[in-house]
Amino acid sequence: MNETRYQMDLLKAMNQNLSARERMYRMICDMTDGAFLYLDAFKNEIITVGKWAEFFDFEIREKRDLEKLYERIDEPYVIPLREVLLLDKSGKEDAKLDVKLKGSEIWIRIQARAAYDKDGKLTDKVIGVINVTEKTKQTQALDYYSYYDVITGLYNRNYFIRLLGELITKAKKEGTKVSVMMIDIDDFHKINDGMGMIYGDDMIKQLGSVLEGFCNEKVFACHLNSDIYAMAIYDPKGKDTPAGVHEAITKRLSAPFYFSGDKSVRITVTIGVAEYPEAADHALDLMNCAEIVTLKGKSLGKDSFVYFDQPILKEFMLGLELESKLKDAVIHNQFELYYQPQFYCGNKKLRGFEALLRLKNTERQISPSVFIPVAEKNGEIIPIGNWVVEEAIKQYGYWKSVFDCHFILSINVSARQFNQEDFVTRLFDALERYHVAPYDIELEMTESILIEDFASVSDKMKLLGSKGVRISLDDFGTGFSSLSYLKKLPINTLKIDKSFIDTLLLDSTTRIITDSIVGMVRSLGFESIAEGVEEEQQYKYLHAIGCDVIQGYLFGKPLNAEGVEKLLRQ
Ligand code: C2E
Ligand code: CA
Ligand code: CA
Repeated sequence: MNETRYQMDLLKAMNQNLSARERMYRMICDMTDGAFLYLDAFKNEIITVGKWAEFFDFEIREKRDLEKLYERIDEPYVIPLREVLLLDKSGKEDAKLDVKLKGSEIWIRIQARAAYDKDGKLTDKVIGVINVTEKTKQTQALDYYSYYDVITGLYNRNYFIRLLGELITKAKKEGTKVSVMMIDIDDFHKINDGMGMIYGDDMIKQLGSVLEGFCNEKVFACHLNSDIYAMAIYDPKGKDTPAGVHEAITKRLSAPFYFSGDKSVRITVTIGVAEYPEAADHALDLMNCAEIVTLKGKSLGKDSFVYFDQPILKEFMLGLELESKLKDAVIHNQFELYYQPQFYCGNKKLRGFEALLRLKNTERQISPSVFIPVAEKNGEIIPIGNWVVEEAIKQYGYWKSVFDCHFILSINVSARQFNQEDFVTRLFDALERYHVAPYDIELEMTESILIEDFASVSDKMKLLGSKGVRISLDDFGTGFSSLSYLKKLPINTLKIDKSFIDTLLLDSTTRIITDSIVGMVRSLGFESIAEGVEEEQQYKYLHAIGCDVIQGYLFGKPLNAEGVEKLLRQ
């Protein structure tokens, strides 16, 4: 009897112990934000603990009650969830899935953990539920930003490249084409700088939605960066071709874009097109080709629409090659000056020389009219231009000391170089060091120099003029040729562009223009120089109309220093 009593006490104590544990588990569960469901596989019994009521308005007591759970889950997640919860079938111990509750924006994470006996039979299972709505929203937002561009809502660059890759793979299999169009707003900086960034952003957004309007299951648009967009067209046909989209864009752009505050703006775009398989067979290469063509389009002027072809690529590659050659030439000082003589028309006496830049050690001669614009663009013109000024003056100083000669030395100066703050001090420093007088020097500049900041350019010219340095306006007739500024600037010489001389004998209009330029130059008190004179007849005509100076192959090609010395000895 004592023994029985002892056994009963023990059982009671065990029971008490068990419920204390259960109480403990319940308390722990209540302290977390989750809800838990425990399944006893032997008894087919279910215990729910934690904040079950916060998620579900029903109780689950048996295995079959689990169906109630599935009823509360958004349709697409039910089948995957069943798989997760049926751990016993898969033999797995752990599984989880984020699902959305039906008819709400609440996301829950359902996590299952199972235990098995040594025969692999399920013994217990715990299903945990936590609210992951906030987290899911954050990841969805992150996901959004990894696909879409914030300003326009179009695809972003990274996703577009991925998408383009997929389109190319598909086109490879199906033997079709993929077109890529790069769309670049012309003079966008005028909107951004002139009206303000808010309008700039608005413009980008508005053009973005125009492009979005052309999208369908075959046409995709993306905002690459700043004012540049790209579109991809799979299997271009009908109106879904670059030409079709271009036409539609042009039509839309014929009307202005409106901003808040009654402001409006009209824009044009430059479009470059490259297609798989002609141009390239990888997404990035195809984008690069489209970009190269767009750059080409920009160089042709606004509002252009250009298709990729091999000559464009070749030209671009040559440009790159030239750029690196120029960098090398600056580092290794591989430049040389040639000097082309200029003669007075009447007595054919030497007036002076124009210093012309040459690249040394190149297989074939690259004209400065090719490499100077490249150097102007990448900034190399500054060290190159400084070298030209220094070298030309140094050479002249040497010739003066040896030949006791006196002539005008013309030096070409590019706008970017002239606009350097230390341009004037550098020049005078060199003149002093090599004992050359300012009035022996003439700076040749094109009209393009006046576009930027007329006032400061004119001040600098006046300063130079006041010290005796001569100013010559180069390539006259090819720029904007506004006559009004000629009177306002201290110009000494005007060079009539070679293109007039070329057609002088062939075209009466050219003769009329040339006549009037020479007449105007005389009445303003400047000197006129005709450049590129190759024929006796051209010279005769120019002499007859009163042109002052002749420069050209007829009287002398550009010479190296040695050639000049020969001439000076005569
Ligand atoms: P530019 O200042 O108009 O120079 C005249 C160009 O015409 C030179 O070409 C000269 O060699 C060429 N030329 C002269 N007479 C004749 C002729 O009778 N027939 C033909 N077919 N051509 C003739 P080059 O030396 O190739 O220079 C081209 C341009 O490069 C120059 O045009 C000038 O704009 C620029 N340039 C040359 N040297 C320099 C420099 O040191 N600094 C800067 N900024 N530009 C330079
Ligand atoms: Ca010149
Ligand atoms: Ca010229």
